[in-house]
Amino acid sequence: MAIQTWLPIEGEDVAGALRKFLAGLLTAGYVDALLVPCRLVGEEAVTPALVESPEALEVCEPLAPVMSHNMAVMAGRLTVMDTGRRVGVWLRPCELRALIELTKLHQATLDHILTIGVDCLGTYELADYAAMVRAGKQPAELWRGAADGEAVPADGYVLRSACRMCEYPTAAGADIRIGLLGLDFPRQVLVESEEPLPVELPPAEMPARRQEVLERVRERRTAERDAVFAAWRAEVPDLRRLAERFATCIRCHNCMVACPICYCKECIFRTPTFDHEPEQYFRWAERRGVLRMPTDTLLFHITRLNHMATSCVGCGLCESACPSHLPVATLFRSVAQSVQALFNYEAGRSLEDELPLATFREDELTDLGK
Ligand code: SF4
Ligand code: SF4
Ligand code: SF4
Repeated sequence: MAIQTWLPIEGEDVAGALRKFLAGLLTAGYVDALLVPCRLVGEEAVTPALVESPEALEVCEPLAPVMSHNMAVMAGRLTVMDTGRRVGVWLRPCELRALIELTKLHQATLDHILTIGVDCLGTYELADYAAMVRAGKQPAELWRGAADGEAVPADGYVLRSACRMCEYPTAAGADIRIGLLGLDFPRQVLVESEEPLPVELPPAEMPARRQEVLERVRERRTAERDAVFAAWRAEVPDLRRLAERFATCIRCHNCMVACPICYCKECIFRTPTFDHEPEQYFRWAERRGVLRMPTDTLLFHITRLNHMATSCVGCGLCESACPSHLPVATLFRSVAQSVQALFNYEAGRSLEDELPLATFREDELTDLGK
C-alpha cells in the first residue's frame, strides 16, 4: 500500500517546496545524486543536470514546461554500469515509460535508480520556451490550470503537439510520485511513495476530485489523439503518399538522435552501408530516368519504424527536432499504436511485459499465414 503525504508549501512556492524535498533526499543519503531539470546557463534553457550537493539545487527547475532531452537516456548513461551509486531521477510520464523500455533493452538498470515521477501538463517547444523567457513571460504559469487539469499556455503559444495528445498525465509506477493535477494547486502537492521516505511529511488522503480530473485529462487528450491519427491516416493511406508528405525531409537524422528509444551505438544509416558505389547510382538513374539524391530517405524512416514501433512512448522529441517541421511523431505514434495493439503491448506500461520482437510465441499471429 502506497504511503500518501502532503508536501509543505510556503507562500505558494511549489518549485521551492519541491527543491527542498529533493535536497532532503540528498542530505539523508537516500540517493547519492539527483538527475533533475536545471537552469544552468542563462534563463532561456532548462536541461537535465546531475546534482550532488543540496545547495546546488537552487538552479533546479522542477516545473519548467520544457523538455530538451528525454531524461531516460541520461538515466541510462549513468546506470548502465554499476558505479555503486544510487541516482534519483526526475521523470515526466513519457520519460518514465522510455526508461522502462530502455531497461528492457538493457540500456539502463533500475536497480541504481530512484524514479521520481511527476504529473505533466505538457511542454513547449525549446524555441518557444526561450522566446517566452526573452519576452518576460513566465512559462511555468501554465500550471495555473493544474487544479482543473487544464494547461493554460501563454497568449500566442501552444504546447507541443505530442503533449496535446498525450494520454499519460501521471507517472504511474514511479518509486515516488509527485501529484500536482486535480489538487488545490499551488497550495497542495501530493507525494506518494512505496516505501517510507527519509523526509518527514504529514499524511494525506487522496482527494476524490483528483481521479475525476485525471480522467478528464485522459479523455480530452485521447480525443485529440484519435482526431489527429484519423486525419493522418486519411491523408497518408500508403507509401506513395508518405513519400510525398515527407518530400521535404533532408535526412538529417535529427529525429533519430532525439529519440530515446533509438539507442543503437552504430546505426546502419550512419555507416557506409548506404554510401553506394558510383556505378550503382548511375544504374538506378538509368533504370528510373531520374534518381532523387540523397537516396534511401523513405527507407530510413521505414527501417526506424520497423526497429522501434513497439517501444515508441510518444514523447514527440523526434518531431520537435525536425528542421522541416514534419509530423514525425504522428507518423511514429500512429504506426506504434497499430503495432503495439497487434501484440497487446503498451510501451512503458510495465517491466514485466516482454518486448514483442524479443519474444517468440509459436501461436502468435497465426492468421497472417492463412
Ligand atoms: S508527451 Fe506527455 S509526459 Fe511527455 S512532456 Fe508531453 S505531456 Fe508530458
Ligand atoms: S528530423 Fe526531419 S528532416 Fe531530419 S531526417 Fe528526421 S524527418 Fe527528415
Ligand atoms: S519515435 Fe518520436 S515519439 Fe516515439 S519515442 Fe521516439 S522520439 Fe518519442
